Amino acid sequence: MAKEINVLIIEEDAALAGQLDNTLKAVGYHTWVMTDAEKGINLLRSNAFSVVITEMRSAKMNGVQVTQAVHKVSEQANVIVITPYSFISSAIEAMEAGAYGYITKPLNSSEARIVVERAVERYFLLSGSEEKEFLVDLAVRDGLTGLFNRRYFNQLIAVEVDRLKRSPAAFSLLMVDIDDFKNYNDSQGHPAGDALLKDAAKVFKNSVRPLDSICRYGGEEFIIILPQTDKIAAKIVAERLRVQFSLYLPTTVSIGVASVPEDAQEADALIAKADGALYVAKQTGKNRWCAA
Ligand code: GH3
Ligand code: MG
Ligand code: MG
Repeated sequence: MAKEINVLIIEEDAALAGQLDNTLKAVGYHTWVMTDAEKGINLLRSNAFSVVITEMRSAKMNGVQVTQAVHKVSEQANVIVITPYSFISSAIEAMEAGAYGYITKPLNSSEARIVVERAVERYFLLSGSEEKEFLVDLAVRDGLTGLFNRRYFNQLIAVEVDRLKRSPAAFSLLMVDIDDFKNYNDSQGHPAGDALLKDAAKVFKNSVRPLDSICRYGGEEFIIILPQTDKIAAKIVAERLRVQFSLYLPTTVSIGVASVPEDAQEADALIAKADGALYVAKQTGKNRWCAA
């Protein structure tokens, strides 16, 4: 990461703090975990923090109090409160007191990452920093498309599989490969091929939800993680993506769909299933999706 970005987590629940810590560390943030709110706020006096994440309801100070205390010490730090979905109204109270946003629990790692990313962005925009490298973090992103890279995909899927062990749920993978891309490169030239890959990234972003993670897995191969999405829903997403791609771009895609729990329960096995389904899609004519 070009610039160290400090995130303070004030959380009494060690399991939740650990999960949040792992998620944010994986993106490259420099995280600090404190169980005591007052000690956490003291840290702000000696270090610049972009984001402070705090429990909405805790023993000593609630989210509103933490928000106010944080802003007394550091005006620019963005406070994010953690709240159960059923208590969102309390998070709104914290936002009225100046908090930037909220994350719901049980924690969804993709949601947490996105909310924190936006808060970090806001911090840098407000602080008038000339350093914009934070927007494209090459440790986790692919330089051409701006999508997550393969290394980060491996971390994301590990988090998703780990989460299943605590609370059983469905999630799906789409493995996407551009059809006849070699022909396109050969006939239009490599720079045109690169431009197509960038456009492909835009089509993917517009075809899936913000919480889905789109990763460039290899040259013209992509993997999309669809959290909390069962196989039926994943097939619908695959079809939408296929159609959007063929409408907006001069080529087509083939897609392999695999889902937890029916196809596999571990990352490697699930990827292998999606890959197998993609192979069938290619063999049976391309410009289609197949499910494992
Ligand atoms: P299929 O329909 O079976 O997937 O065939 P294909 O031609 O898409 O697949 P193949 O694996 O034969 O070729 C992939 C091509 O992707 C070859 C390689 O030159 C090109 N490629 C990989 N990475 C990049 C890149 O970053 N930029 C460009 N322009 N081309 C790339
Ligand atoms: Mg291909
Ligand atoms: Mg390929």
